Amino acid sequence: QILNSTVQDPWVRRLIDLECFLLSGLKADGTVAPEVAFMLGERDRSVVDYPLGGSEAIIDALVRGLTRWGGQLKLGAHVEKILIEKGRVAGVQLRRNQRVTAPIVISNATLWDTYTHLLDPEDLPKTYRQEQLSTPAVESFMHLHLGIRADGLEGLTGHHVVVHSDDVDITSPGNTCMISIPSVWDKSLAPEGYHCLHAYTLESFAGWSRDGEYQDRKSLKSQPLYRAVERVIPDIRERIVLELVGTPLTHSHYLRRDRGTYGPAIAPGQGTWPSCHTPILGLYRVGDSTLPGIGVPAVAASGILCANTLVPAPIVLEFLKKYQ
Ligand SMILES: Cc1cc2nc3c(=O)[nH]c(=O)nc-3n(C[C@H](O)[C@H](O)[C@H](O)COP(=O)(O)OP(=O)(O)OC[C@H]3O[C@@H](n4cnc5c(N)ncnc54)[C@H](O)[C@@H]3O)c2cc1C
Repeated sequence: QILNSTVQDPWVRRLIDLECFLLSGLKADGTVAPEVAFMLGERDRSVVDYPLGGSEAIIDALVRGLTRWGGQLKLGAHVEKILIEKGRVAGVQLRRNQRVTAPIVISNATLWDTYTHLLDPEDLPKTYRQEQLSTPAVESFMHLHLGIRADGLEGLTGHHVVVHSDDVDITSPGNTCMISIPSVWDKSLAPEGYHCLHAYTLESFAGWSRDGEYQDRKSLKSQPLYRAVERVIPDIRERIVLELVGTPLTHSHYLRRDRGTYGPAIAPGQGTWPSCHTPILGLYRVGDSTLPGIGVPAVAASGILCANTLVPAPIVLEFLKKYQ
């Protein structure tokens, strides 16, 4: 509504749509106003921030926080089921028959993974389950990961967005391609003399299977990404020393996300983001299919909202006073 009443220039409208799509997965009419304001504000005032050490450095910082407050991280602990006894949560069942009992369980898996794989249908009220599982989902992705020779690329910059055609919707698979070359900012991410590059574009999960045509389809669908990278590094194909192409099946498998989705497609006015509460006593949800939504800052906020729900306000206040 704000966009329609204030911005008439078609190019600027398309740019705002693009900015919204890059963050929320939806265009301006599907993105909440604060998110749009934040995006445009960042473009105006902020430089590109990149965590030295890559995304691993963010994980390491979170783990340091967890262990500092007595938490313990258990890796390689696939949860098969969330255990429910007499209508309330009792713990989790891990692979290889290991059971962890707990009065509170917080699921960080997507709503679809939590409600289809981790719970049995009868654990949830039928209409609630149906409603939740019918939440629209943003599509998945094609990925291109490359290791390339860096000679002659001295002026290279690290982040690019290529829209191939103005006549095609920006959300069409293959049309908008994002490119990151993080070794431009952090030399530790690639061997000396090389860069690592990641490019990705939206791609539907539907129709993908590991059949006889999988490799050909993979190659075909990676071409829009190659063409986008060629806009930045024209001789990219001659520079490749390592090539890894990922499909929606790869994305779904390694990130363990239902249909490899980017997250819920909940447009303002057409639905509200679920909170951390579930109908099951002691079971909570966090992550990008809960309020406030998709993206690392939003996901961190969902964890804070859940922690504040579980810890009484006087204790939070005492804590804030002690460490402010
Ligand atoms: C290509 C791409 C680019 C992006 N770029 C940005 C960006 O520039 N800025 C930004 O802010 N956001 C970005 N995002 C979005 C952001 O990465 C996500 O919104 C965020 O990482 C989601 O966090 P999450 O913890 O909710 O889910 P996830 O990161 O998916 O974490 C869920 C975890 O649960 C684990 N899990 C699932 N099932 C089980 C099970 N049964 N047992 C045990 N563990 C399980 C998974 O292995 C996974 O580690 C991007 C996303 C993509 C895909």
